[in-house]
Amino acid sequence: MMGAFNKLSSTVSTLFSALFGTAARQSDHRRLTQYIVTLNQKENPGDIISEASLCLKDILDYRLFAFVIRKENGIDVWLDPRMYKKSLESVIIKDFAITNTADINYMNHKFHADETEWEYSMENLVSYDLTEENCRAKMYMLPNRTMLNYHDEIVNIILKSTGISLSRQMNIARLTNAAALDPLTGCYNRREFENQIQRSVADATRHKKALSVFMFDIDHFKAVNDTYGHPAGDKVLKEIADLVNRNMRRGDTLSRYGGEEFIAILPETDKQKAMELADRLRKKIAARKIETNTGVVKVTASFGVAQLHHHTEGARLIQDADCMLYKAKRNGRNTVMPGLIKICPQKAADAMIAAHNG
Ligand code: GH3
Ligand code: MG
Ligand code: MG
Repeated sequence: MMGAFNKLSSTVSTLFSALFGTAARQSDHRRLTQYIVTLNQKENPGDIISEASLCLKDILDYRLFAFVIRKENGIDVWLDPRMYKKSLESVIIKDFAITNTADINYMNHKFHADETEWEYSMENLVSYDLTEENCRAKMYMLPNRTMLNYHDEIVNIILKSTGISLSRQMNIARLTNAAALDPLTGCYNRREFENQIQRSVADATRHKKALSVFMFDIDHFKAVNDTYGHPAGDKVLKEIADLVNRNMRRGDTLSRYGGEEFIAILPETDKQKAMELADRLRKKIAARKIETNTGVVKVTASFGVAQLHHHTEGARLIQDADCMLYKAKRNGRNTVMPGLIKICPQKAADAMIAAHNG
């Protein structure tokens, strides 16, 4: 990556000499080089693009309108917050074939419904494509003056350096994620769970807020592997993890604790609420039919729930949940411990009253 950057710097020098020839534009050359060096030092996409925006404005008097990065599912959009959004949004949607606006993530600005937006004509909008290793992006600009031939080349240099910086930054993010995620289920792995629980316990203690966890283990999972095969077992694990993830709140996190055992951290949640959630999930798991290449699989899971007590620590919380999970297994599986208080069915209640009266 560094090699690509050095090559780019020398291309900038050569191009500037060819374009301007004389020493008159040496200061422009220095400025552009300086911007590229700074770009390369930035550590998050928003900062990298902001720097590119400053550079374009300073050297060419162009306004960077938007920078759109294609992601696996959807796009990240950096927008100059002072500029008109709606008309541009439709251009972006068309260019990136977006079918659902929920797939658009605005990186640097949250738009409010009542926000006044400046109107800009889209007539002079120009766009440049960027394909750099793992980064596919598009840059939209409004030139404030007539575009000259050499502008194009300078824009391409800025775009290329932005791409190199973004791509490197995205590689780092991917590697960091890979170290934190379980590859089969996409849940956090055990190591990341240990980091998260420490942070959550410290946070709950400092702000005197409730914190609960639930642990669950798929029942008789060995029999699933034995009957349907290991690949089918893998599919079951993945689908159950997806099902649980989809039915939790945004701030809750699910980690794979061991083979077929998962643990969820539920911030600002007391034990009663955690038990209710666990029971809803238990029912959803039991009702789920999972299609595999070797047949339709149905499984159940046992849950153990625990809440953080004041003056205790994360290790104790996990121990409590584990102990409850063990009880749930002993109580016949497909259950949550501690159990929710069950309303007596009418017949049993009548029998109790009759016995009491009789
Ligand atoms: P219990 O109801 O008591 O939890 O019974 P169980 O059969 O689920 O528990 P046991 O600990 O005996 O077996 C767990 C099984 O989970 C055995 C192991 O091969 C399987 N397993 C663990 N990790 C994976 C995985 O990544 N993929 C698949 N397919 N199976 C896994
Ligand atoms: Mg099990
Ligand atoms: Mg187990």
